[in-house]
Amino acid sequence: MKYISNLHTHTNYCDGKNSIEEIIKYAIEKEFISLGFSGHSNFSKDECSMTKEGTIKYLYEIKKYKEIYKDKIQIYSGIEADYYSDLNKNTDKEMPLDYRIGSVHFIDDGKDYFCIDMSKDNFNETIKHFGNIKIVIEKYFDNIIKMVETQKPDIVGHLDLIRKYNLNKEYFTEEEDWYIEKVEEVLKHIKENNSIVEVNIKLMNQNNLDAHYPNKRTIKRILEANIPLILNTDAHSINGLDKFYCESLEELKKLGVKKMKMLIDNSFKDIDINLFGKDINYK
Ligand SMILES: [Zn+2]
Ligand SMILES: [Zn+2]
Repeated sequence: MKYISNLHTHTNYCDGKNSIEEIIKYAIEKEFISLGFSGHSNFSKDECSMTKEGTIKYLYEIKKYKEIYKDKIQIYSGIEADYYSDLNKNTDKEMPLDYRIGSVHFIDDGKDYFCIDMSKDNFNETIKHFGNIKIVIEKYFDNIIKMVETQKPDIVGHLDLIRKYNLNKEYFTEEEDWYIEKVEEVLKHIKENNSIVEVNIKLMNQNNLDAHYPNKRTIKRILEANIPLILNTDAHSINGLDKFYCESLEELKKLGVKKMKMLIDNSFKDIDINLFGKDINYK
């Protein structure tokens, strides 16, 4: 087994391509120490989310395979709880979840919900509806703050997903004071609520080493604030499960990351970044 783990994994119960067992088999082949599933929590406005019935089957199936493969890999049952779904720590205490990733994918205007990562055209329409990009960004980050304060997820998913269509700085510059101040406010709430921040590398590749959430500046601030990080691929297929996992470590080391959290033996442990991808003498 190696120090490789991913807790942000989608299956065919939501918008992922593969079944739970296919993903587990792939992770075993790649010698993952642990693997967590994070289906999109049921939310009527989100076409990518799991159905209510599907969620029950999903949890049952994870439990089943957790037992079947327990000698080969540690399997964890999680969820990517959208801020607007009715799935959070205050309302679903009965659900057998090992962890929650809290994510914001929508903002609202009091009447309707607007997805911020569906498509560029859709994003443009959302900006038009609210008047300007600054309002959209502030609403997005305010939702993260409210989510962290009220739902207290273990992990905050793709912290600055609002940058998805701004990777070439088409909409705003992330160095502007108002943007930096807003991110600072978000980090303050995350720190107070002891959440772990995910480094989400779904879009990262050799040609775009900056395509990760949060951006490099924010990762540096997270390190200064001593907020824990966890590395996730946000996989939607087996090919995405460890895609750019080891390569991304070099970028993180350059930023000064020394350790990151990994879910092992039912708790979030600090693992030296130099051990990531390496063999574990594990019993
Ligand atoms: Zn998400
Ligand atoms: Zn996701």
